[in-house]
Amino acid sequence: MAIFEYAPAPESTDVVDIKPSYGLFINGEFVDGSGPTFKTINPATEVPLAEIATATSDDVDRAVQAARKAFGVWSALPGAERAKYLFRIARIIQERARELAVLESLDNGKPIRESRDVDLPLVAAHFFYYAGWADKLEYAGFGTKALGVAGQVIPWNFPLLMLAWKIAPALACGNTVVLKPAETTPLTALWFADICRQADLPPGVVNIVTGAGDTGAAVVAHPDVNKVAFTGSTEVGRIIARTVAGTDKKLTLELGGKAANIVFEDAAIDQAVEGIVNGIFFNQGHVCCAGSRLLVQESIQDELLDSLKRRLGTLRVGDPLDKNTDVGAINSADQLAKIRELSEIGESEGALRWSPACELPERGFWFPPTIFTGVAQSHTIARDEIFGPVLSVLTFRTPAEAVEKANNTPYGLSAGIWTEKGSRILWMADKLRAGVVWANTFNKFDPASPFGGYKESGYGREGGLLGLEAYLDV
Ligand code: NAP
Ligand code: MG
Repeated sequence: MAIFEYAPAPESTDVVDIKPSYGLFINGEFVDGSGPTFKTINPATEVPLAEIATATSDDVDRAVQAARKAFGVWSALPGAERAKYLFRIARIIQERARELAVLESLDNGKPIRESRDVDLPLVAAHFFYYAGWADKLEYAGFGTKALGVAGQVIPWNFPLLMLAWKIAPALACGNTVVLKPAETTPLTALWFADICRQADLPPGVVNIVTGAGDTGAAVVAHPDVNKVAFTGSTEVGRIIARTVAGTDKKLTLELGGKAANIVFEDAAIDQAVEGIVNGIFFNQGHVCCAGSRLLVQESIQDELLDSLKRRLGTLRVGDPLDKNTDVGAINSADQLAKIRELSEIGESEGALRWSPACELPERGFWFPPTIFTGVAQSHTIARDEIFGPVLSVLTFRTPAEAVEKANNTPYGLSAGIWTEKGSRILWMADKLRAGVVWANTFNKFDPASPFGGYKESGYGREGGLLGLEAYLDV
């Protein structure tokens, strides 16, 4: 029998030209920040990629002023004219997709297979979708009056996609934007700034202010910001809700999740296994709507877990730029420490930990795909968001018990149901307190479909028609 050595299929990093340092993007120009610079690194190698500017509250003020000035021009344009810019941006994103995908994988650690085949197509689709609405706002039913300046703060797990979710509807409705990307993943937002210039977008319509939490806080607190849109942790979401309370700023919050992926005994097991893997190991589990709790019907637990473990043994963990890689690097040392800590708590509380044999690279931040069985509702790993490649397995006997367990969480962002019975899907979907319910699939996104949570997962919807409501004076 022939034995083949593993042959990596590395994507080229030559397609992206990273300069040593980057400033802030204010009023159509790259300018220096007033704060100390910081480095963004490649989490797969710990090698610094570039020096990034920090925007102080004075810099944020300049950005908001630029956005305010641009608002007069931008909101006065006919919708069809704004649409032309958005279509142009969408097309440039498609043209530069390879460059952007490589950059995203370098800065974030996600596999190129995902940045290339999931993130980038969805980013372009989002701009195309909202470009199409810009001249049809009166038919959407939320009026046509823009809010003004939108202050937007986003996390590191889908840097460019979260930017698209925020910026595309805001601009389509006639608002202007000041956006702060996450400290560990600022690069694609700065490339987007360049794309705005390439598209001849009027100066000040989009402003990008890099920095850490303080920069985000300055954006949120700025008195001349009319709308705050935040995606991130529930903890920071609470701080922001407090800052915005008592002002007339409009607010949307997309926060954490602890989704149940519920598998009934009549489900197609092989498909369910693929859905479970996609649910929790996609993007290293750094997904707010990840299927981080597997609820499996007791009668098929052993069979399902055997298949799942066999499948996990085939996942390739390692170099994000290798086109064969399934699971890439954890985004930061901090996030890795958090995943490790919660996993240790899982063990100490009595759950059984399992990972397939896999060699992890020496440099960089890595965590193997991990399953915890024997998890009880009371365990920390059944309640807290781990935000990593870690699955907690619980069992149930009846549909009613599945609903009860799935809803027993402070979060309510998403859920998955695996069964052959359409009637059961409808019955379950009606009872699950989750913003998105997938049936016999998981982690499917489309710009036409609204996304958002219940309870501590936040409020407001992004995407679809409802995504327009968040940026109009209804
Ligand atoms: P995070 O710590 O809340 O950070 C999110 C963003 O807020 C970052 O840009 C961060 O800056 C900034 N920030 C930090 N403190 C701030 C403050 N006091 N005021 C204003 N901005 C502040 O969240 P994360 O750990 O990066 O992201 C993971 C979380 O996001 C998870 O809980 C996940 O579930 C959630 N998430 C939700 C969705 C959704 O759509 N519901 C999508 C993706 C992620 P720094 O980068 O400098 O810290
Ligand atoms: Mg980085």
